[in-house]
Amino acid sequence: MKHYTDKQLWFVTGSQTLYGPAVLEQVARDSKEVAAGLDDSPHLSANVVYKDVVKTPDEVLKICREANNDPGCAGLILWMHTFSPAKMWIGGIQALQKPWLHLHTQFNAGLPWDSIDMNYMNLHQSAHGDREFGHLPARLGIDNKVVVGHWKTERVQRQIDGWTRAAMGWHEAHELVVARFGDNMRQVAVTEGDKVSAQTQFGYNVQAYGLGDLAESCDAVSDADLDARVEEYLSEYTVADGLMQDAHTRECVVNEARLEIGMERFMQEMGCMAFTNNFENLTGITGLPGVATQRLMSRGYGYGGEGDWKTAAMTRIMKVMARGKEGGTSFMEDYTYHLGETGQVLGSHMLEVCPSIAAQKPTLEVALHTIGIRKDIARLRFVGVPGPSRMLTVIDLGHRFRLLLSELDTVEPPQDMPSLPTARALWEPRPDMETSATCWIHAGGGHHSVYTQAVDLDTVRDYADLAGVELMVIDEATTVPAFRQELRQNAAYWSLKRGVL
Ligand code: MN
Repeated sequence: MKHYTDKQLWFVTGSQTLYGPAVLEQVARDSKEVAAGLDDSPHLSANVVYKDVVKTPDEVLKICREANNDPGCAGLILWMHTFSPAKMWIGGIQALQKPWLHLHTQFNAGLPWDSIDMNYMNLHQSAHGDREFGHLPARLGIDNKVVVGHWKTERVQRQIDGWTRAAMGWHEAHELVVARFGDNMRQVAVTEGDKVSAQTQFGYNVQAYGLGDLAESCDAVSDADLDARVEEYLSEYTVADGLMQDAHTRECVVNEARLEIGMERFMQEMGCMAFTNNFENLTGITGLPGVATQRLMSRGYGYGGEGDWKTAAMTRIMKVMARGKEGGTSFMEDYTYHLGETGQVLGSHMLEVCPSIAAQKPTLEVALHTIGIRKDIARLRFVGVPGPSRMLTVIDLGHRFRLLLSELDTVEPPQDMPSLPTARALWEPRPDMETSATCWIHAGGGHHSVYTQAVDLDTVRDYADLAGVELMVIDEATTVPAFRQELRQNAAYWSLKRGVL
């Protein structure tokens, strides 16, 4: 199933003129068949188009430049069906600005033991043709993706798709504008960061907008639009008893409809697909958005609380990488521990958890919000789906960025928490809460993250490579001493890689 329809992957085969036209025609036919096979694969979420068999340095450079200039090109799959001397690729690879994957495959899976002859060997020489080519990116220090195996297998196609999703996230990051409504929460360190460095590293642009302008957009929402949106709420959620009969709680619900429509119209006008706000800066609007933010997130907008634009951007990027996959993706915060026999983390936020992670129909209710402002606010309450999950945070270390990922197992809470008026998920970090939290803290990870049950670790790894940032992973194999050692070694690597500035 294709979930990315505005961008395609280009399939480019490398060869050389040595073999004569008959062999090259066969190479082209085979390449078209591989490209069509990948395009037809139910495991690939983007279309694959055959482009060319390139045989000279000029042809290589030309196709790389064409890829750079075509906004519909998400990335390239490169394969050397025969032998393609790597010096031919130096200019093209150095010019290429799109993500690319090296597919180390072979047209036929099995050897034809009885009939194999030298002609067959010369046509099917990826085994060394791809190694010749692969020497070049290794030598240039390019962290490109390498996928090995027969192109018809599900494993290979799924690996290509995992990388495709990362490439789509990388593209999204370069088109993304994050709207800041209000500044950072006062005195908080981890939500701060260098917006210019973020744009040069990740591509997204973070823009501040006045609360007065947002308030104007919210005030302009018509009564008819408010009524229609409230009707949507009532049909989509379980509504708390008496909520719409009480004039005060009804007004709280209408406020959310106003904020949702007003914020979305404002962001559409500004071309923003992610936003932050801060309960300390709400002048002119009806309060800290609850349901409004939850629903915008469920429609694909990125969000980060308390001015956290890094998490807002990452939430949007992860939602794009998750497209069409099972499981939700949300802004999240490690909130409170259960330090029992097995350490557990209750994840939540004041209001803003995305209903895409809900295990059941969310309940629409109004409760008193007491942090920063004291106000009744309508919110959606639900519990996260049990199962494997992970959380990813973006850390600004001052001189560089670090991505930090923790593998989790979300579990069913042992009982209801009737007095807690927020959406929540309960999880057990791998390998255990103590190791995970120790490593998280040593790595400088903050309290905000993107929680996902849709985006795989491999896709996050590929994204980190495309963005050129460190990724630290805490999983079932992690130990504290080895993790700390990796941090120290990585510090040296990234310092050397950056060089003198
Ligand atoms: Mn927070």
